[in-house]
Parts: sequence; C-alpha cells; structure tokens
Amino acid sequence: MTDETPGLAERLSAVREGIADASRAAGRVPGEITLIVVTKFHPASLVRELHALGVRELGENRHQEAQAKAEELADLDLRWNFVGQLQSKKARQVRRYASSVHSVDRDALVDALASEEGAPLDVFLQINLTDDPGRGGTAPDDAPRLAERVLGTPGLTLRGVMAVAPLGEEPRAAFSRVRAVSERVRELSPEASALSMGMSGDYRDAILEGATHLRIGTAITGNRQPLV
Ligand SMILES: *Cc1c(COP(=O)(O)O)cnc(C)c1O
Repeated sequence: MTDETPGLAERLSAVREGIADASRAAGRVPGEITLIVVTKFHPASLVRELHALGVRELGENRHQEAQAKAEELADLDLRWNFVGQLQSKKARQVRRYASSVHSVDRDALVDALASEEGAPLDVFLQINLTDDPGRGGTAPDDAPRLAERVLGTPGLTLRGVMAVAPLGEEPRAAFSRVRAVSERVRELSPEASALSMGMSGDYRDAILEGATHLRIGTAITGNRQPLV
C-alpha cells in the first residue's frame, strides 16, 4: 500500500486543482464546494491515507462496507456520506455512522430515517434523470412533494438535491435539469440549496452548473479492487 501513497497524493491534488480551475471559470470560490471522496471497494487503509492528506468527507454506497470502515476508523475525525441505494430496513443502522444520506428517494425511506433523538441527519433528495425507475431517485416532478415530507419529519435536515448524470446525455445539460429541480425545492425551503452532483468524469460541468458537493471516486482512488 505504502508505495501507492505518492500516486494517491498526486491524484488528489490534481482533482483539487481541477476543482479550483473550474470554480474560477464559473466565477465561484472553491471554498464553497465540498469534495466527498468516494472510497467504495477500497480498504480502510486507503481511507487512512486520505485522512493523512487532509480528506475528512468520505462517500460510500453499500451499508455493510461503510459500517465496517466507519468502525475500523472510529479513531479518525471523518464524516461518512451515504450515496448509494438504501433499503428502508437498513436506514436506522446507517444513521448511526453517517452524517448525510444523498440517496433519499421515497416516502418509506424518509419515514425509516426519522429520529426523535441525536444529531439531525443531512438529507439530499436523489433525482432520477432517466426514464428507468430502477436507477434510483425520484422523478423530477415528485421532488417538491418528497421535500415537504422530509421537512415534516423529525431528525432530518433537508440540504438539497443529488443526481447522477445519465449516459447518453451531455452532463452539463443533465446538471442544468438538476438545478431547475433545486430551484423548485428552494421555494419550499430556502436553506435546502445544496447540489450534490459531479463525479470523476464530469465534475467540471457540475461546478459550472452550481454543484456544492462533488462525489469523486476513481479520479482520486484509482481503479477499484473488489474486497475479498
Ligand atoms: C461510485 C459513485 C460515485 C463516484 O464515481 P467515480 O466515477 O468513481 O468518481 C459518485 N456517486 C455515486 C452515487 C457513486 O455510487
């Protein structure tokens, strides 16, 4: 692992520079953009290296893997952002280690994440930009209704919306659609202005369309090795 460290540091700084460049091009300040490093399929040791390089925001998309890493790395000051499809029956367990869930897309999940005690959980509504309901996310037109439900649920803070740019569409056009959904959500809750969008291949376009939270994996971590 240790001889990979220089590569990791270089990839991380290249992405940080890319974020700074795109922010300048968009007339924005890089400091208003949160970089979440998605570490799925990578071991806890890699997260430890990222922490040493200053990373505090991590993203995971599978509960079991996220929970194991959060436990193993409990000595570090990390924030875990859950970004994958989530079964309602796992919701309470995810709440124990995650500071945010970016993939809230249906009433049953909102209800399962409710809590009367403890720190509030940050919630992003995932918007499905495809016509395939299996992709995860709620339809753009359903977002305001789902937002109302989150706003009326104890223990949840509505932060904004999240999306993955679909294949077969220019990412910038897709992100502009997310921004339009965000505007409708903000009419209901002005503080819910966050936009979680932009991955390794399209984060520049996302920044140009107003992304506040980038979820970047492979551009920083390198190719994923399945955990054995
Ligand atoms: C894996 C993943 C990412 C990161 O993707 P990369 O292309 O590796 O940057 C972002 N968001 C979600 C929801 C993911 O599952």
